Amino acid sequence: MCVFCKIANHEIPSNAVYEDNQVLAFLDINPVTKGHTLIIPKKHYDNFLDCDSETVKHIHTIAKQLTLHYQLVLKPNGFNLLSNMNGAAGQSVFHVHFHLIPRYDENDGLVLLFNHDDSVQYTKAELNQLILK
Ligand code: AMP
Ligand code: ZN
Repeated sequence: MCVFCKIANHEIPSNAVYEDNQVLAFLDINPVTKGHTLIIPKKHYDNFLDCDSETVKHIHTIAKQLTLHYQLVLKPNGFNLLSNMNGAAGQSVFHVHFHLIPRYDENDGLVLLFNHDDSVQYTKAELNQLILK
């Protein structure tokens, strides 16, 4: 059983901030900012790619409610909501989770760089291939 399944089953303690039958939200053990929270389905899926759409919907409903709640109690200046999928994207725990990260300023604990890659080009065929039909 994976570490987040154990947290969902209350076999490993966590600082839970929300719980229902399907979802648990708890504070990250190594927070990058105050309020850094993980939102997980109780059912195991390796990552977002495997997760069913109803669960994805419910996780995002809870994420929105928690964001509004944290806005009131933590008064950050922004938020990041993100999910790492697979090792190449930095996933280290293979049970789907969304990081909800309150942001205070650009020099807080999260460094998220979007380096523009000039070499990225698209052919017409590639652009067409990317359209979800
Ligand atoms: P990721 O790299 O997206 O897979 O993120 C995994 C996150 O899980 C990291 O931010 C860890 O700090 C966090 N984490 C790992 N174990 C625990 C735990 N027992 N309780 C709370 N957070 C954890
Ligand atoms: Zn699991």
